[in-house]
Amino acid sequence: MARAWHLKSRPQGTPTADNFALEPLDLPRLDDGMVRVANRWLSVDPYMRGRMNDVKSYVPPFAIDAPMEGGAVGEVVESKADGFQPGDWVLHMAGWRDEAVLPAAALNKLPDLGVEPQAFLGNLGLTGGTAYFGLLDAASAKEGDIVFVSAAAGAVGSAVVQIAKAKGMTVIGAARGPEKCDFVCSLGADAAIDYSEGPIVKSLAAAAPDGIDVYFDNVGGDHLDAALALARRDARFALCGMIDSYNSGQPASLRYIMRIIGMRIRLQGFIYTDYVPRLGEFYRDMGGWIAGGQVTARDTVVDGLEAMPEAFLGLFSGANTGKMLVKL
Ligand code: NAP
Repeated sequence: MARAWHLKSRPQGTPTADNFALEPLDLPRLDDGMVRVANRWLSVDPYMRGRMNDVKSYVPPFAIDAPMEGGAVGEVVESKADGFQPGDWVLHMAGWRDEAVLPAAALNKLPDLGVEPQAFLGNLGLTGGTAYFGLLDAASAKEGDIVFVSAAAGAVGSAVVQIAKAKGMTVIGAARGPEKCDFVCSLGADAAIDYSEGPIVKSLAAAAPDGIDVYFDNVGGDHLDAALALARRDARFALCGMIDSYNSGQPASLRYIMRIIGMRIRLQGFIYTDYVPRLGEFYRDMGGWIAGGQVTARDTVVDGLEAMPEAFLGLFSGANTGKMLVKL
């Protein structure tokens, strides 16, 4: 029988295993126009923490005691829909479960680009697209800019580092620990800051003595404050995520916030789905960089549906390098 993770209760602060339960899943009948998919790869993403709160946001909250959702890649095992046949690989949003029966309209067939199917949850999916549009559109980053990116060893951050280098920028990445910093440098970053070593504002001042033109924010808190402190005139910030506050719900106060005025800093929040109409540009450029070796992927893979909450929670303790994925 198919199984799916349910949210059993809304977490207060950092979620625990008790907030989740793996339950049997009643699948709908395979009527005309429907496709049965065996999920092979499931995505865990920090934004899912926001969906665990009962608040209005850009995506609705997860319902209590109902199957959770999220990005997934699977293989078609049975089809009553034109255009889909067993063996096709598809991308869809019925994650947190091992099997799904979905209308064809809920599925995107993966093109055969010679990449691993899970790439469509990483560099060729939401995380790569977020990095691409956040850096090049929201922050208007261009050749010659000095770019600072937080959570630089993570899924979005590692794509930002590589895209910025492919576009001729100077890149400083922040991550926790020497191994992650080595990884960030291996992606081509000009410098990596281990933020666990001391106040990040001091480390960033040392790494960027002339200041920064662009900040790609994945963290918020002291990382955002350090970027404000080091921003040059007309700096541009892409506000992508603030994982530092997702569990506390309390954004840190910003000591350097008033520099926004004097330095004419532009802050631009954005959501990946804003850019869906422009995905063609992303596939063209990212496809070229992957084919040319300028963008590579390193995934952190957790095995089995049972381990999915653990994989999700690992995002908040930094258990991942690159994209965190669950393999079924
Ligand atoms: P990720 O970076 O692969 O994983 C999260 C990483 O954040 C961890 O590995 C950890 O790395 C770091 N982290 C966790 N808590 C931290 C803290 N308190 N301070 C500093 N670093 C912390 O996750 P992702 O999927 O690529 O997402 C990155 C950010 O982008 C998130 O904020 C997410 O919400 C956002 N996002 C936004 C959009 C959008 O449409 N706007 C789309 C996708 C993702 P360390 O071990 O280095 O601390």
